[in-house]
Amino acid sequence: MTGIMNVRPEASHRSSYSRRFFWHEIFCFMNTLDSDLKAELASLERDALRRRLRVIDSAQEPRVIVGGKPMLMLSSNNYLGLAAHPALRAAAAAAIARYGVGAGASRLVAGTLAPVAELEREIASLKGAEAALVFGSGYLANLGTITALAGERDVIFSDELNHASLIDGCRLARATVRIFRHRDPGHLASLLVDSSGARRRLIVTDSVFSMDGDFAPLAEMVELARKYRATMVIDEAHGVGVVGPHGAGLAAHLGLGREIDVHIGTLSKALGSYGAYVAGSRTLIDYLLNRARSFIFSTGHAPALAAAATAAIRMMRATPEIIARLWDNAAHLRACLQGAGFSLGATASPILPVMIGDSDSSLKMAAALYARGVYVAAIRPPTVPRGTARLRVTPTAAHSRADIEEAAAAFVGAGRELGLI
Ligand SMILES: *Cc1c(COP(=O)(O)O)cnc(C)c1O
Repeated sequence: MTGIMNVRPEASHRSSYSRRFFWHEIFCFMNTLDSDLKAELASLERDALRRRLRVIDSAQEPRVIVGGKPMLMLSSNNYLGLAAHPALRAAAAAAIARYGVGAGASRLVAGTLAPVAELEREIASLKGAEAALVFGSGYLANLGTITALAGERDVIFSDELNHASLIDGCRLARATVRIFRHRDPGHLASLLVDSSGARRRLIVTDSVFSMDGDFAPLAEMVELARKYRATMVIDEAHGVGVVGPHGAGLAAHLGLGREIDVHIGTLSKALGSYGAYVAGSRTLIDYLLNRARSFIFSTGHAPALAAAATAAIRMMRATPEIIARLWDNAAHLRACLQGAGFSLGATASPILPVMIGDSDSSLKMAAALYARGVYVAAIRPPTVPRGTARLRVTPTAAHSRADIEEAAAAFVGAGRELGLI
């Protein structure tokens, strides 16, 4: 709007009639757009699918301040409780003092700030890979990597519950996409069998599924990839910092690190910062920095975020007890919730999906928990399939035993109030 307002009428060559017509057109356009959008929002509201933002007035700690009130946060991906950790704050502050805030331009244009290069070495070392490349976010890493590796003559095999960013990458790649049933290597095999015409075959999967917390059957998938000469691409957004030796991820946990061609992960969840990485061979990384458009056409990563992520990886490698604390808290909360009669699906990780079913009940449950001082978001379609709305509960390493027990009590109270248990 500002751009339009800045046009000085006397400087324009329009007659006053056409000027009036011009404004009329603009307002009519906005009015139809607004009323269209309002109708769509109302329809989302009716289906209990409308989403809203809430302002948090504190750091992402076990207790956050919302509207002046402390709330027990059980809805973040801040698995190791590092998002507000003093070591990450200090690393970020030191990087700002030396390197400033912004990266200036794309790295191919203005160069790579040293903290980003250092982070890439740290990630490569954690993953046991030759090299790594930092992207602006996990969404951008998935979009850029898949579109760089697959095109019209290729086939991508994608788990039906893959994260939206992988799905969008597949769509944008304009490759043929074959969707296999969730964690079903048999179905994947049957799709691979009749893909003989493809130039390249990509098998793409979350390692730890974001909304269900279950693990991809990586060993079977790697075997199929070998047999059909397919490329394995895994998204360890919820694996890194959570699973595996020193938090290296699910592939490392299963001893399959070297069998996976493309390791993707985010710096924004367990690692408490922002951004993402792709790790693999030097050739893969060289190729991506030449071909991944979301890398090429985005400004380099902020040095503070890179330095904080490096600090997080180093802390996690030096003190893997924090990972054990996360699993302890998750095991305790899981036992309490299952003991109370809630169904948690097939989770194998600290992601605890309390299955509700319909969106409306999941919203009511979230509201009942909120009234009890517990912050848990209702996860609804299109994030999860229809009829599988849930409360996705994620304790962190930073929660105390008392926090976990308070959360469990709130779930029992809210669940009884709504007749869910
Ligand atoms: C969160 C998430 C992403 C996106 O990562 P951001 O860094 O938040 O953009 C990608 N994949 C999966 C599986 C995720 O859960």
